[in-house]
Amino acid sequence: MIYVCRSCKFIFERVGEIELCPDCGKKSVQEANEEEKAEYIERKQHPEEWFDK
Ligand SMILES: [Zn+2]
Repeated sequence: MIYVCRSCKFIFERVGEIELCPDCGKKSVQEANEEEKAEYIERKQHPEEWFDK
């Protein structure tokens, strides 16, 4: 399952339920929508394009 934090926009993958954002620690985690999932998958496939920005 792919989740997104509504506070800091951090997108991450977890197996099972999660409450707290691993990045900012807030309880703003929701399941990612289709657009956010696509972004996450794109980022995972091309990590070198993301680290330079
Ligand atoms: Zn967060």
